[in-house]
Amino acid sequence: MRSIFWFKRDLRLKDNRGLYELSALSAEIIPVFIFDRKLLSGLNGPAWRTGFLASALEQLEARLRARASRLYCFYGQPEEIFARLITRLKPDALYTNRSYSWTGEKTQKKVEALCRQAGVIFKDFNDSLLVPPEKIEARKVYSPFFRLWNAALASEDLSLKPEPELLKTPVLKLPSLTETLKLVPHEINRYWKVDYAGRRLKQYDFRVYDEGRNKLATDGTSRLSVAIRFGLVSIREVLAAVRKRLEADSQFVKELAWREFWYHIRYHFPWTENLEFQEKRRGLKWLNRDEDIRAVEEARTGYPVIDAAINQLKEEGWMHNRARLIVASFLTKDLLIDWRIGEKLFKKYLLDYDEVVNTGNWQWSASVGADPRPLRMFNPQLQTEKYDPDCRYIKKYLPELKKVDCGAIKALDIPGYHQPIVDHRSAAIRAKKAYLG
Ligand SMILES: Cc1cc2nc3c(=O)[nH]c(=O)nc-3n(C[C@H](O)[C@H](O)[C@H](O)COP(=O)(O)OP(=O)(O)OC[C@H]3O[C@@H](n4cnc5c(N)ncnc54)[C@H](O)[C@@H]3O)c2cc1C
Repeated sequence: MRSIFWFKRDLRLKDNRGLYELSALSAEIIPVFIFDRKLLSGLNGPAWRTGFLASALEQLEARLRARASRLYCFYGQPEEIFARLITRLKPDALYTNRSYSWTGEKTQKKVEALCRQAGVIFKDFNDSLLVPPEKIEARKVYSPFFRLWNAALASEDLSLKPEPELLKTPVLKLPSLTETLKLVPHEINRYWKVDYAGRRLKQYDFRVYDEGRNKLATDGTSRLSVAIRFGLVSIREVLAAVRKRLEADSQFVKELAWREFWYHIRYHFPWTENLEFQEKRRGLKWLNRDEDIRAVEEARTGYPVIDAAINQLKEEGWMHNRARLIVASFLTKDLLIDWRIGEKLFKKYLLDYDEVVNTGNWQWSASVGADPRPLRMFNPQLQTEKYDPDCRYIKKYLPELKKVDCGAIKALDIPGYHQPIVDHRSAAIRAKKAYLG
């Protein structure tokens, strides 16, 4: 039997569900990765994600070569590339891990239809989620979802599947990663190296999570989101590492469940890609002032915690979760900027960008999403007091404030610094009116 294995967001050999199943069956396996042209042309920020992807693929290719295999790599539309490969290579099957995102699912469906037409077996596996969304009844609120999800975990096969020892891959005249990378703009972000994933999983002390997760200046969170996004580690491996040290319903497990909650919402309420989950919030009158949008992206809102967070995002391609919450609240409530604009801003820079998770979180932060609370709004100064009391985070990402007294920063009394573009107290009144009438 000759089969194609299509790598997508699962760039590893260990505990790769689809690859594991296929390697037990197939005599010949042709590993393929495709840089999706349409998807890449929609990105307008630094080419870090493709840079990181390139390094992840180099790592994967080296591991495949160590198993006498190789990686064939393409740039274009997956359905067109597979149409050509099917005609030329005459495979019996195409295996892959299932896409649950809006974009990924659409592409996958086209490839599946193509295989059906050509008489090629198409099989996909749940690899990216601990509990696949189709196994849990629809819930609109996180807590009841979590109870169902946690109960369903008990019946999932969470065992870690070994790496295939050898993969028999034919030598074909098909493009290699090096050749294809010449066509794909990619840029290295110096903060994220692909080999961090395995190290971080071993070294991160999950026991500090509860205490450290909200402190902006501390390395208190796992930073595994980038590794999870590209599938450098399997989600079951992450859970296994957590379970070695923490209770089954620890806060960390609850965070993994938040990720799955957004996939649950996407699966059961697929129209939320662009539309507010809450019907009553669909007619909100956003202000969307260009000068405000520019001030946020250029980190000159006059609120140091917001400006520092944006600098972190633009420098590192990552932002602390607490900072994401503060920025999203400021953008949607204080400035009344449409959450879709915020979603695009994060899309432009985040290395861990995930359209489902980002959309869910932006809707939640804008109080238009799957959240029973009528309105959530953060005061940037109170958030600073609570989560960056000694201004260490602010000073790290706004070095021009290094010598300014932290008390003055918290009081927004900073000589020579940008004036706040909005007064939080009046903005809060305006937001309440816009949201609650
Ligand atoms: C407005 C906004 C946009 C966001 N956009 C993204 C995004 O595009 N991609 C992304 O992976 N995360 C996103 N998040 C969620 C969260 O901020 C990041 O997952 C987290 O900061 C990553 O850092 P970490 O790995 O150290 O997280 P940790 O705190 O160590 O959490 C462990 C893991 O749990 C998951 N997780 C934690 N919090 C959330 C959450 N709120 N929703 C979903 N999963 C979560 C992630 O997989 C994370 O790696 C967003 C949050 C907000 C408020």
